[in-house]
Amino acid sequence: MRIGLFGGTFDPVHNGHISIVRSFLQSGYIDELWILLTPVPPHKLNKEHVSYEHRKEMLHLAFQDIDRVRISTIEQTLPKPSYTVQTVTHLAQKYPEDEFSLCIGEDSLAQFHTWKDYRKLLEYCHLLVAERPETDHSEVESQIMKRVQFIPHEPVEVSSTEIQRQFSSGKDPQLLLPDRVYSYIKEHKLYQ
Ligand code: ATP
Repeated sequence: MRIGLFGGTFDPVHNGHISIVRSFLQSGYIDELWILLTPVPPHKLNKEHVSYEHRKEMLHLAFQDIDRVRISTIEQTLPKPSYTVQTVTHLAQKYPEDEFSLCIGEDSLAQFHTWKDYRKLLEYCHLLVAERPETDHSEVESQIMKRVQFIPHEPVEVSSTEIQRQFSSGKDPQLLLPDRVYSYIKEHKLYQ
């Protein structure tokens, strides 16, 4: 099977994530997409997070109607911090029959050379990159570009940080969130 891996903190999951996941699934390059819920990513160690359990619940609610998506909590069981290279090598060894692609946005491509052991990572997976207008990847090294497949995508301008900001400043970001996720946040009084 061809499996796409899409990692993040999803704090909370929002409509931009749903939209990019749909684009990856529609690309024809993967059979399934696994969402890797990260405990605390190396570059966000100094930020507070809603609990892993709440973020996992919100992911299940967000993707329950979309076929071929699985929510993976594998990173919770692996040593921290959760470097992608560690997760991907673990999965490649556990599922030797499957072929993995890392799913990222074009904005992340320019930073890819800063990821831990990115060359080793590319030995285990391809890169599926969702296009984003006005993003420049002309400086990306050819070793990386050899492993890249671009897929069409219409970006939805939203981030988890923006949603947190709106909640804490008394605004209502309901339209940026799947309905069930919004209800869950309200019910559990998150991001207040
Ligand atoms: P933060 O604001 O905390 O950085 P985020 O909204 O970027 O959060 P993450 O959980 O960090 O959410 O993102 C998971 C993945 O989703 C990352 O690869 C990120 O590039 C991608 N992503 C985030 N927002 C969007 C969006 N609006 N459209 C497409 N991809 C997105």
